[in-house]
Amino acid sequence: MKKTKYPLSWSKKDFSIKIFCSIPNIATGILVRAGDANIVIDPGDGILRDLNKELTVDQIKSISDVFVTHGHHDHVGGVWSLLTYLRVMNKKTPLTIYYPKGCIEIEHIHNAFVKVYQDSLPYIIKLKEIDGKSVVTSKKVRIKPFEVIHKEILNDGRGKRQVPALGYNFSYNKMKICYGGDTAYCETLVRSAKGADLAIIEAGHGEEESDDMHMSFKEAKSIGETAKEYFLVHVPE
Ligand SMILES: [Zn+2]
Ligand SMILES: [Zn+2]
Repeated sequence: MKKTKYPLSWSKKDFSIKIFCSIPNIATGILVRAGDANIVIDPGDGILRDLNKELTVDQIKSISDVFVTHGHHDHVGGVWSLLTYLRVMNKKTPLTIYYPKGCIEIEHIHNAFVKVYQDSLPYIIKLKEIDGKSVVTSKKVRIKPFEVIHKEILNDGRGKRQVPALGYNFSYNKMKICYGGDTAYCETLVRSAKGADLAIIEAGHGEEESDDMHMSFKEAKSIGETAKEYFLVHVPE
């Protein structure tokens, strides 16, 4: 299997996305830029290092929104360091973190962070629980979440459980980027990816059979090919 070479970049006019990395069980990190809006998606481990290569300190401080697809460590591992960096750099403007309803990882990271730094926080952190019916606007970007199917294995032999998980459509100037996050094959993703300018589809099972946690190459490609362009991500290395 050929290794994906990160970062993956796509841009059209002043709408762009950079996937710094997307490696299952290791880390994800994505930046969407639209006009002067900088939006972070799934800040996994290493997000600060990657943002620092891409943006100036002032641009990092201007990040207003973070979108989390689900609470697995390879998607939220960098939240603490991002929040701390913004504190150290004296960010003044609010930061909103959008996350799927029931994603307790984000709530606990946030609560612990606020507990530690409540007396020295220069900016406001807003937590926004969202679901498949929510619509969010950030500057001129419209963000439409959609529910996906993603599970985790319980390591005491009790099988698997569904985790709160979302994919996101980012629309700007009549262009659309669809990011499915981690998901099994599902109709919501099929519908969202269709006709998108760019679809970012996980193929967490690579050449192997798919299940209710991740997709195979075959499934991921079949969805990606309905978009104008697509990237397959989250392929095991
Ligand atoms: Zn993952
Ligand atoms: Zn996951």
